[in-house]
Amino acid sequence: MKVNFPKFKKKSNRQSARFRKGGFSIKNCQVYLAKIGCLKTVWSRPLPSEPSSVTVIKDNADRYFLSFVVEISPELKPATNESIGIDLGLKTFATLSSGEKVDSPDYAKLERKIKRAQRHYSRRQKGAKRRERMRLRVAKLKAKQTDKRKDFLHKLSTRVVSENQVIALEDLGVSGMLKNRRLSRAISQAGWREFRSLCDNKSHKFSRQFVVISRWEPTSQVCCDCGYKWGKLDLSIREIVCFNCGKLQDRDDNASKRIEQVGVGHIHDSKRTGRKCKTEISAVSDELSTHLESVQLTLFDC
Ligand SMILES: [Zn+2]
Repeated sequence: MKVNFPKFKKKSNRQSARFRKGGFSIKNCQVYLAKIGCLKTVWSRPLPSEPSSVTVIKDNADRYFLSFVVEISPELKPATNESIGIDLGLKTFATLSSGEKVDSPDYAKLERKIKRAQRHYSRRQKGAKRRERMRLRVAKLKAKQTDKRKDFLHKLSTRVVSENQVIALEDLGVSGMLKNRRLSRAISQAGWREFRSLCDNKSHKFSRQFVVISRWEPTSQVCCDCGYKWGKLDLSIREIVCFNCGKLQDRDDNASKRIEQVGVGHIHDSKRTGRKCKTEISAVSDELSTHLESVQLTLFDC
């Protein structure tokens, strides 16, 4: 990464202030902050326990949030499914080895709006009031897009992790792929890396096993039914009839099933070779009992 000169903080960027115990109180769902007063709040969810501190955040789109630090006890619901493999793509965001295909939300309309607003913004005179108004509009649109992506990724990862005991993903060389200029926007918008870290964190929370298999594993070159290796396929080939067992395989479907097989294989390997893996897992579940989570909610402008 190129290193530049330090920049001054901008007032329009994200700002936050933290209130510890004594600096805030909550009575009948009303938040009182020292020296500020009562706030009009919209709660995203009820607080699971007494918060130890609260952070007030104002983002660059002029939205206010309250983020509480609370202690939660882990929900240890057993998984209904043993394992799952996930193949990530662009158009179909995720192909699950259960046969399900999850489409990516459509960002095209928002993207067009952002492009237009950004164009208008760049034509405004620096320091002008109308420029500031336009900056806010761009920031609001971008925030909407981010929210849409996050909502989608959170919902999918929570569902996948809570339903399965072992979750296998493929390690994608994201930074290498971003160098492809024609695809970089679509790839960074899809949020593969974000999805991976969400699954990773949630697996800890639900005490599941999360496996990432090597990117050099030939998942789309091997039949998931008989293990026959047919070799490299052009990206345009979406389906293939296995030369060995004669079954018609969908490319993504086959890859997700292979990811599951390889991922589960990795776990058996590590179980056989050492106890290191086991101790790590028990350490994690001990940690879970004092897991800290932040609860965020939206505030009206106050
Ligand atoms: Zn086969």
